Amino acid sequence: MPPRSMTAADYVAGVRSGNRAHLGRAITLVESRNPKHQAVAQEMLLALLPHSGRAHRVGITGVPGVGKSTFIESLGRMLTAQGHKVAVLAVDPSSSRSGGSILGDKTRMEQLSIDPRAFVRPSPSGGRLGGVNRATRETMVVCEAAGYDVILVETVGAGQNETVVADMVDCFLVLMLPGAGDELQGIKKGILELADVIAVNKSDGGNAQSARQAQQQYRNAVRILQPPTPGWAVPVVTCSGLTGAGLDDLWATLDDHRRTVTESGELAEKRRRQQTKWMWSMVEDRVLDAMRAHPAVKARLPALMSGIDDGSMTVTLAAMKILEAFGITPD
Ligand code: GDP
Repeated sequence: MPPRSMTAADYVAGVRSGNRAHLGRAITLVESRNPKHQAVAQEMLLALLPHSGRAHRVGITGVPGVGKSTFIESLGRMLTAQGHKVAVLAVDPSSSRSGGSILGDKTRMEQLSIDPRAFVRPSPSGGRLGGVNRATRETMVVCEAAGYDVILVETVGAGQNETVVADMVDCFLVLMLPGAGDELQGIKKGILELADVIAVNKSDGGNAQSARQAQQQYRNAVRILQPPTPGWAVPVVTCSGLTGAGLDDLWATLDDHRRTVTESGELAEKRRRQQTKWMWSMVEDRVLDAMRAHPAVKARLPALMSGIDDGSMTVTLAAMKILEAFGITPD
């Protein structure tokens, strides 16, 4: 819980000082769902906004076990050694149900966590995807204002998480496993459509051959997909988070993507689209919450639901009655 006495200006000064404890406290403020904390957080964010927006924002996804944490630890350490300041954020709404975050597990990224040029933050616990989304985006602003020039946003490749993350980053990196022929048949297709870059991870030791096969398969697969960024053909590379092989080339590829989209103006356009979409999704969340909690809606709901059940009411009519109860009438 943030100390009561701290003002937005105190938080701003703390974040700008680059001190990690202050940064952590500012993020706790952003994650808080207490309306008073949120008001202070918004005042702080307004002051920090001019100092944000310059980082390279990269989303990273992949199924559990693909090697995300090993990969981020190696990539993060490579980047801090090159002089970057790296923040690692996680989006994992499932943590609210299990009580502990899959991604926030303390044993993960041990080296990076103690690296003075890195900041590793587990997924905010509790709340729904919308809340985690807001907290992560605002945390990104805070980290950028604190001088972090690389933001890695990690998520498990499951459910809607990856769409949410793809919508908050400049570049979306999908990690795949070697020898993944049958993975292509299933649900992974949806992930491939979001990918700006695909990396076949664990390309080491006895896996080298099957990694190359997977690389070829994914190259064929993305050729028939519409690339998420106009003018950017999705590269498929191989790497190993464990040995560090290929990470240099992978980062060069991510840099290349950044240069391409910056020069074409697509990056600025993409960020603008993301902000607009985010704003409307917050409005939608709030309106839906307000509607569900509205006394007139609550009063009518049971009869409408049983009407739908027994066939005396159509779904469209029921939806209109709910809107009417909330005060929205058909034009
Ligand atoms: P996550 O669940 O995606 O975060 O995956 P982890 O990083 O926890 O790794 C899952 C397992 O794969 C662990 O046993 C790692 O030691 C192993 N692993 C991770 N990266 C590599 C890699 O690059 N090569 C190989 N051979 N194994 C790896």
